[in-house]
Amino acid sequence: MKNDSTRRAFMRDTSLAAAAIGSLASASAASAKADGGGAGTAYLCVTCGMQYPESAKPPENCPICDDERQYVPPEGQQWTTLDELRKTHKNTIKQEEENLWSINAAPKVGIGQRAFLIQTPRGNVLWDCLALIDDPTVARIKELGGIAEIAISHPHYYTTMIEWSRAFGGAPIHIHEAEREWVLRPDPCVKFWSGEKQTILGDLPLIRTGGHFEGYQVLHWPAGAGGKGALMAGDQPQICMDPRQVSFMWSYPNYIPLNASTIRHVMSCLDPLEYDRIYGAFVVRGKGIVPTGGKQVVRRSAARYLKAIHG
Ligand SMILES: [Zn+2]
Ligand SMILES: [Zn+2]
Repeated sequence: MKNDSTRRAFMRDTSLAAAAIGSLASASAASAKADGGGAGTAYLCVTCGMQYPESAKPPENCPICDDERQYVPPEGQQWTTLDELRKTHKNTIKQEEENLWSINAAPKVGIGQRAFLIQTPRGNVLWDCLALIDDPTVARIKELGGIAEIAISHPHYYTTMIEWSRAFGGAPIHIHEAEREWVLRPDPCVKFWSGEKQTILGDLPLIRTGGHFEGYQVLHWPAGAGGKGALMAGDQPQICMDPRQVSFMWSYPNYIPLNASTIRHVMSCLDPLEYDRIYGAFVVRGKGIVPTGGKQVVRRSAARYLKAIHG
C-alpha cells in the first residue's frame, strides 16, 4: 500500500516506544490490578477496543484505527478504561455446542468482538478476545475450567488480551510473528510463532493463512461439530449476511478487497482441513455461524469471488 514503508517505520518506532514503556511499567504493574496500577492507566481505544501500555495520559493516537483497514470516527479519537466499561457493560457466556462457549459483550464494545472458549481434556483455549473482562466473567470461566492457552486470529482482536492472560495465571498468547508490530502492549505472555502451522494443546492447529493480515491465523478444532470439525475463522473467511456465503477482504469497513493470488493462497491453507462448521468473528443475524457444509461454502464463495475479480 501507499506509505507502507512510512507506516511500518512509524509502527516499529511506536512498538519500540511501547516496549520501553511496557518494561518500565512491568515491575510495578506485576501485582497491580487488571486496570490501572502504579504506572498509570492502560487506556483502551473506544472504536477498536485495543488496549495500550499503562500511561499517565491517553496515547496520542491508535495505530490500529489509523491503519487503512480501520477508521477513526468523525468525532475523533476517543479513549476509555476497563473500569469505565465495567460500569456500563456486561458479558454473556453462552454454550454454542458441547465444549464450546461464546463470550459477547453488551452493549457492543469496540468493533463488537466476540471470543470463544474451547474445552479440551488438556485444558481450555480462549480463541480470539474481547475488550471487557470483569470478575463475573473470570468467575464463570473458572467454573468452566479456566484458560490454559490463548490464540487470536489477528490484531483487530488483541484488545485486552494481556489482561485475560494475567487473569488466568499468565496463559500464553499464541500470535504469528508476522504480527509482532501490531502487539501494541508488549508483554512476555505473548508467544510469537513462525512458519505456517503451530499446534497448541496437543491437537489444535493454528494455520497461518495470511490475507486480511500478513500473519492472519485460523484455529482448526477437529473435535468440533460433533467430530466433523469446526473452523474458528475470526473474520476471514467472513460469514456473510447469508450464512451460505463467506468473503475475504483486506479491509471490511473500507471495502478493500484481496487479490486473486492471495485468495488462492488462503484457499490452499484452508482446503486440507477437515471441517463442517464455521464460527465467525461477529454475530450476524444472531448467529455468525455456518452450521453445516462449511467447507463447501468456503470453496463456492472463493470461486465466486475469483470470478467477480476476474481472477
Ligand atoms: Zn483503535
Ligand atoms: Zn479484522
